Amino acid sequence: MTILNLSSALHEKQLKLATGYCCESCGSVVPHSMLELHPIPSDNETKIVSGASDILVLCTLCHTRLHDAVIPHELQRSAIRIRPPEVMENINGILSRPFT
Ligand SMILES: [Zn+2]
Ligand SMILES: [Zn+2]
Repeated sequence: MTILNLSSALHEKQLKLATGYCCESCGSVVPHSMLELHPIPSDNETKIVSGASDILVLCTLCHTRLHDAVIPHELQRSAIRIRPPEVMENINGILSRPFT
């Protein structure tokens, strides 16, 4: 199982690139600095992100909205379910590389 270290700046940048710097909620393409990673941990206690299905790439606006609205995890995952398979593969590939 992959445990994502969200403090890894390199991985963070690669993950954003994997979506083409595109927000997975509103679909806007925004500069890298305006994108944020939103982990959806399967286990709320450990906050462990185990793969591409546990992470969303969002613009700052959508990210703020998502947190303000307290959207249930199941609903948050709907954006991941419609993610193109190649993006899914890319993200899983990045997550499987060792963290430095
Ligand atoms: Zn957005
Ligand atoms: Zn978040």
